[in-house]
Amino acid sequence: MSAYRARAVVDLAAISANIKLIQSTCSVPVMAVVKADAYGHGLIPVAKAAISAGATWLGVALPEEAIALRKAGITAPILAWLASPGAPFNELIAHDIDIAIPSIAIFTEVLAAANALKKKARIHIEVDTGMSRGGFRDEWNTFLERSDLRDVEVIGIFSHFARADEADSDFNLQQKKRFAEMVTELGARGISPQIQHLANSAAALQDQDARMGMVRIGIAMYGLSPDYERMGSSKSLKLQPAMCLEARLHLVKVVDAGSSVGYGSGAQTTRKTKLGVVAMGYADGIPRMAKNAGIFIDGKRAPLIGRVSMDQFVVDLGPDATVKGGEWVCIFGNGDSGGYTADDWAAAVSSINYEIVTRIGPRVPRIYK
Ligand SMILES: *Cc1c(COP(=O)(O)O)cnc(C)c1O
Repeated sequence: MSAYRARAVVDLAAISANIKLIQSTCSVPVMAVVKADAYGHGLIPVAKAAISAGATWLGVALPEEAIALRKAGITAPILAWLASPGAPFNELIAHDIDIAIPSIAIFTEVLAAANALKKKARIHIEVDTGMSRGGFRDEWNTFLERSDLRDVEVIGIFSHFARADEADSDFNLQQKKRFAEMVTELGARGISPQIQHLANSAAALQDQDARMGMVRIGIAMYGLSPDYERMGSSKSLKLQPAMCLEARLHLVKVVDAGSSVGYGSGAQTTRKTKLGVVAMGYADGIPRMAKNAGIFIDGKRAPLIGRVSMDQFVVDLGPDATVKGGEWVCIFGNGDSGGYTADDWAAAVSSINYEIVTRIGPRVPRIYK
């Protein structure tokens, strides 16, 4: 796809630096979480960069993400934690992909697929320690009774924090306590997985007790703060945002004061000004309801005006702007020279930076530097 209109420029050196920083902070093996097309940054190039930088594991949600990594020749251990009933378990097992087991139904399917292949499945038992999302809770005691737990290779046991960004929340203590109990209960059945893992980026960065045998790092490896308000900006965490989203100005025009802009006449100009039409819209992941965000060009911010359309949005460049159609503008980046960041766009729609980067659509080419 040609990048004549829009591009997400991904700095793989930033990803590498972020992984090295996390590794030296945590001193335990790092699983690079590359689900959702590596948070929108591009699955294969990011996975390769992460491994070169020292990550020893890759984590994904879906089976097809894991299989794509294997098909690209990646041999590092991979965990897929959202292989739902009906997933291609035989393919996962054939490709030596580790599978998260959160329920007896899924365990049963994995066993059947493994038996058919005459191969032992590699599993990580997922336990629900309080989030009430994935993992064993009500079925836990029944699962522990299963004698066929011996027919699989139990590589890991893991859980996930609900409130890792809130460093002093008692909920984290409760989850760690419950995790330790469940590890002990499994141990009492003679099963002691090599790797116990609990921490996502937020926990890895601020809770030494949560790091255990491995940390699962997503957002921080992309250089973004897990929680801007509670943990501070990328910069304060010494992380380097890896993605710079850019688009071309489709055209620039002068309009009078009182001109209505966009669908529903969502905004009115208050002065005679120059508007820039940016060739990206909500089909590309620009949030339709964004307010107080915009672009950066010529050393200045130009705010959004009116509603974002499917393929384009309008910015107020100001009456004195000298920029012309065809110039590249920055929608978000590392903010170093004063431009908007993914955190600014997230704040503009009461969301989080995770959503901003993962929603950049497939029409936007990823360019690597
Ligand atoms: C997405 C995910 C992670 C990574 O979380 P970040 O906050 O991006 O570091 C870790 N573990 C699991 C189970 C996840 O789903």
